Amino acid sequence: LTREGFSIVPDVKWDDVGGLEHLRLEFNRYIVRPIKKPDIYKAFGVDLETGFLLYGPPGCGKTLIAKAVANEAGANFMHIKGAELLNKYVGESELAIRTLFQRARTCSPCVIFFDEVDALTTSRGKEGAWVVERLLNQFLVELDGGDRRNVYVIGATNRPDVIDPAFLRPGRFGNLLYVPLPNADERASILKAIARKKPIDPSVDLDGIAKMKCEGFSGADLAHLVQKATFQAVEEITTSGEDDDDDITDTSQCTIKMTHFEQAL
Ligand code: ATP
Repeated sequence: LTREGFSIVPDVKWDDVGGLEHLRLEFNRYIVRPIKKPDIYKAFGVDLETGFLLYGPPGCGKTLIAKAVANEAGANFMHIKGAELLNKYVGESELAIRTLFQRARTCSPCVIFFDEVDALTTSRGKEGAWVVERLLNQFLVELDGGDRRNVYVIGATNRPDVIDPAFLRPGRFGNLLYVPLPNADERASILKAIARKKPIDPSVDLDGIAKMKCEGFSGADLAHLVQKATFQAVEEITTSGEDDDDDITDTSQCTIKMTHFEQAL
């Protein structure tokens, strides 16, 4: 997957994302359908929305949903980190930013995901920051984009309070979308999405775990829980009968049970 402008359609599907229903609706409306049915939007002369800023606590699915949007739309995906952009490109000034957007246009439809957007704006005004300033101005020029042909920009931040208002104007990151910590039902939906590809024993009550035992967990915490429970299960099966010479394992026994979740919790 891209870090420097090379892109592919990501493999994250809507089914891999739990909760976040409101975002799914928004992105279907503003990105997925316009990419899939461009003629209809053209016929109505719709001014498309192309800039979005996801904000909210860490680990709640901002990156994941941006990837799922690109996948659902069949669009390419470029993942750029704010801090990297600064460190890497400052010396090369505005040209690099222009090249980035140029590449996105070349492989459009394309979703550019700018993680840690706040890193860009908080560097403004620091000592010797004139280069940063020029880089930012070029960035804003590209966002304003006279020529945005099927290039959508999704920014993400945990610190919306420090974002320069210049970024939030319509046409730039004009649509602010909150990605909250999940509630009990959303936690259950996330846990099921994460556990979908795991051999979970049918007796495990994922709803109960998510609702009763994971208060305050983010999606990333839930992913970590499943990973820990998986390790517990693997550990149990690989260390039992360790001294036996017989190393044939019946993989139908390889399931993650309630006890493993309890140990993980
Ligand atoms: P950060 O602000 O720290 O960059 P983020 O909001 O971008 O975090 P993600 O990187 O999308 O969070 O989530 C981290 C991991 O947590 C995902 O790879 C996934 O395993 C899990 N996760 C988070 N939210 C969800 C969700 N809504 N559905 C399913 N998995 C989730």
